[in-house]
Amino acid sequence: MSLRVNLAGLLKDNVGAVRNFDYQGVWEADGLPQGHVAAEFKLTRTSRGVWVFGPARVTYDADCGRCLTPFTSWARLQVDEEYLPSVDVQSGRRVSYGAEDDGAFLIDAHHETDLAEALRQNRLAAMPIAPVCRDDCAGLCPACGANANEGACACEPEADPRWAALKELFA
Ligand SMILES: [Zn+2]
Ligand SMILES: [Zn+2]
Repeated sequence: MSLRVNLAGLLKDNVGAVRNFDYQGVWEADGLPQGHVAAEFKLTRTSRGVWVFGPARVTYDADCGRCLTPFTSWARLQVDEEYLPSVDVQSGRRVSYGAEDDGAFLIDAHHETDLAEALRQNRLAAMPIAPVCRDDCAGLCPACGANANEGACACEPEADPRWAALKELFA
């Protein structure tokens, strides 16, 4: 399943016309599986193209910043992008854009576009900078590296190198 959408009908409609595009399931971007998504987009005809707006929940894969264990979690994001036609829907003529539209999302010559790339870029921005597998992740023992979520290791609490550094400070 994909997030491809045909916008020919909406492009022929008046400015302000709205279509809903809801999607739940797995998704791909650039042919690569990206995980799961639940999206509720509103597509609005603008004077130039189609404005795609709405919330989505997407899964992301990360390594925990405390215990280093790989995990999958959900990120919430808001898509707010204007898509521009590469061909005029009425005349069939190619539309060209100036440098100010560099990097804009384009609707192809068949009036279709894939919302996956916008979703992928917005997910990157929505992912936490320091992801943790869970809020109360206990991390790794600083002395032996054991995962403290899996139970206590044999190390003495005094072995914590932060205490050693403090002792040096007061020596
Ligand atoms: Zn963790
Ligand atoms: Zn330990």
